[in-house]
Amino acid sequence: MSINLIINKVAERIKDRHLFAIFDRDGTLVPIISDPDRAILHNDVLELLLKLDSLPNTRVAILSARDLAQLRHDFKNNDLILGGNYGMELLMPNQMSWIEPKAVQSRNLLLAAKRELEEQLPEETQVILEDKQLTLCLHWHLTPSEYREKVHSCIKLLKTKYSGLLFKALATSYEIWPYMQWDKSNGLIQITSILKLDLDECLILYIGDSDSDEPAFAWVNNRQGITVRVGQSAESIAQFSVKSPKEVKEILKLLIANIQNS
Ligand SMILES: [Mg+2]
Repeated sequence: MSINLIINKVAERIKDRHLFAIFDRDGTLVPIISDPDRAILHNDVLELLLKLDSLPNTRVAILSARDLAQLRHDFKNNDLILGGNYGMELLMPNQMSWIEPKAVQSRNLLLAAKRELEEQLPEETQVILEDKQLTLCLHWHLTPSEYREKVHSCIKLLKTKYSGLLFKALATSYEIWPYMQWDKSNGLIQITSILKLDLDECLILYIGDSDSDEPAFAWVNNRQGITVRVGQSAESIAQFSVKSPKEVKEILKLLIANIQNS
């Protein structure tokens, strides 16, 4: 039901404007699974994104917590806009890239923190440490209960030691960031300013699944765009919700058909 409401809303609002559609990756285009390496983007979803991007007056961007290297691997060499590390690193359609300078400066600090985590958390803790160059992510969802305290106290210790880094506790992971104010709305601001998008001339559609997408929802809502949160969530400022990445695929199909027939 919700899917039709979203498509109708886009049709009603787009008129002569361009469509700028932004998708988060994990939990939005790809179902979440416990091993992030095995959460693979399927080719049929990629084909739909490319098809949508190829339509006149339409632009597609991916804005993800994953790093740009992973996104490049997934989305291959094409014209989609790719935003890695919450948009702190971007690849634009003409292969022009951009990287947040303040984030680059923190690389050595991050590396030092990474080394300490590797030393202090032995294999039996079963943590997964992702090095995304500009940020680190320490997943502890597989950690046996007897080792969890060790993980939390290790982070606590690093927090006092590295005041130049920002430690964020998520549901079953910690993210370690350069010490700066950044969220996905900053990623959107950067993308739209590089593209020189006239926001009055374009309808923005943003689809994401987690709390890290909420600042982007707020930014898009303020610009009279359309926002969709995927999955069950207690509270969201998104205007619509759908159940799963499967339904996002349905939205993609209907959007394409709708734009082609208009
Ligand atoms: Mg997500």
